Amino acid sequence: MIENYDYVIIGSGFGGSVSALRLCEKGYKVLIIEKGKWYAKDDFPKTNWNLKKWLWLPSLRFFGIMKMTFFKHVGIISGVGVGGGSLVYANTLPKPKATFYKTGSWSGLENWETTLKPHYETALRMLGAAKNPYLELGDNLLQKLAIQEGRGEHFEAADVSVFFGEADKTFPDPYFNGKGPERTGCNICGACMTGCRYNAKNSLDKNYLHLALNKGLKIIAEKEVVGVKPIDKTDGTDGYSITFQCSTSLFSKQKTTIQSKAVIFAGGVLGTVKLLLQLKKTTLPNLSDRVGDDVRTNNESLIFNVNLNKEKDLTKGIAIGSVYHADEHSHLEPVRYGRGSGFWRTLLVPVVTEGNFFSRMFQIAGKILRHPFTYLRFVTVKDFSKQSIVLLFMQHLDSTLSLRKGLLGMKSSVTKGRQPKAQIPTASRLAEKYGKLVGGGKSFVVLTESVLNMPSTAHILGGAVMGLNANEGVIDKNNHVFAYKNMLVCDGSTVSANPGVNPSLTITALTERAMSKIPVKET
Ligand SMILES: Cc1cc2nc3c(=O)[nH]c(=O)nc-3n(C[C@H](O)[C@H](O)[C@H](O)COP(=O)(O)OP(=O)(O)OC[C@H]3O[C@@H](n4cnc5c(N)ncnc54)[C@H](O)[C@@H]3O)c2cc1C
Ligand code: SF4
Repeated sequence: MIENYDYVIIGSGFGGSVSALRLCEKGYKVLIIEKGKWYAKDDFPKTNWNLKKWLWLPSLRFFGIMKMTFFKHVGIISGVGVGGGSLVYANTLPKPKATFYKTGSWSGLENWETTLKPHYETALRMLGAAKNPYLELGDNLLQKLAIQEGRGEHFEAADVSVFFGEADKTFPDPYFNGKGPERTGCNICGACMTGCRYNAKNSLDKNYLHLALNKGLKIIAEKEVVGVKPIDKTDGTDGYSITFQCSTSLFSKQKTTIQSKAVIFAGGVLGTVKLLLQLKKTTLPNLSDRVGDDVRTNNESLIFNVNLNKEKDLTKGIAIGSVYHADEHSHLEPVRYGRGSGFWRTLLVPVVTEGNFFSRMFQIAGKILRHPFTYLRFVTVKDFSKQSIVLLFMQHLDSTLSLRKGLLGMKSSVTKGRQPKAQIPTASRLAEKYGKLVGGGKSFVVLTESVLNMPSTAHILGGAVMGLNANEGVIDKNNHVFAYKNMLVCDGSTVSANPGVNPSLTITALTERAMSKIPVKET
């Protein structure tokens, strides 16, 4: 017998989890289908050298919490697992500046700054946002940099989704009147991006998903949705059949189909856009031609600053503890990993900013061969995470890419506007200055940036953006998909302008708003 639901949600990240709780509260029968695994605190890897538990690479039997995806124009890191990107994220919850609400394909559809305000407040409360009380070495150096730049007042401690309480002490639920799980105080180990092994990070399984499970939500993990097809009427009036298969088995690709009155795509940009592009060619041909357009990278630059000073410890603190608003468009955050997490050193090369592939290879080789021992000393420092910091630079100046269906999944292309760049001069300048403040710190980037001029991002957004109609967007201002009934998109792919700051809070607020428009189930 085919099982029936009111709502099936594809993916359990920020958009999926918020949708699940709010729909369960309204009396609907809800199922989440999630590709990744369940992770309890002791399942997380101690360091990122435990690739099997850190990376999601099913073909190698790695079922971790972070996936790396490379297209021609961008390299992307994203989260996988029950709780989506919240398992691997750095907890930071900033609000975008005013330009965000007035630009992009959603501008004019609403007064977004006003309409989203109460939903940002709900999102901050639900995610347990708190001002980081621990400014440690990496943050203090950023503050020094801000002061050196004459902008000391533009440095601040970050708002983060972490329970601080008292380090390593467990408390009954501090957030939801006893309906949430116990929490343990953060011990500032810096390991948030390999998953919190101390029950201090407010990942989605500790708030939205926990509460939704208590209200009847069902979650099926380790299953990937591969098909969505209208039942009877082609516009979805009669609901959809949804097909999924195992995502962790090498051999068993047996498909299961269930039915639902409504479906919510919440697989993050890489999950949702891939699925929509595929379905447009098969069972959902009336999807907007704009699927895959307006993909944004947050105009981001990730620069590793490594130093040779064994005495300094840059791991102490939470993953992102502070932010410097470098100018009206730009933000800089120091990002740390916990002790022993040194994997990234294997991919680092000196920064090269100009030239074609051959010239870049030549320049990289030149930089290494001119000072081979210096290069080796930097990439072989004893404890890489203790002696390095990632400088995350983000700008809300616009740049866009498109994702299209390729032979093997998706491919990227440049269709309009400015394309995101691998190196941003302000970011390089600030990284150099930061390195001097650490004392002898040198800048490196992941090799795809220097060799292929390919920017990297942890904040891929867009691809199913809002618009006035199907010529301008994939969804309307309330997240409903044009041309289909009972079908919504609620995740990072709906972000319709460049926030220029870490986006999870915005995805949460946008989904809270979309869910507030759905009526209580009629009985
Ligand atoms: C290392 C790192 C650090 C970050 N730090 C921050 C930070 O400090 N602050 C911040 O705001 N953001 C941060 N981010 C970004 C943040 O994680 C994402 O923006 C956010 O998680 C996106 O939310 P989402 O709702 O779009 O979906 P996601 O959280 O990406 O979740 C989508 C889920 O859907 C699942 N899925 C996809 N396709 C399918 C399918 N076909 N079937 C079933 N399941 C599917 C995926 O496995 C995934 O679990 C960070 C990201 C990374 C990688
Ligand atoms: S710093 Fe350590 S204890 Fe605190 S939230 Fe991050 S991983 Fe958990």
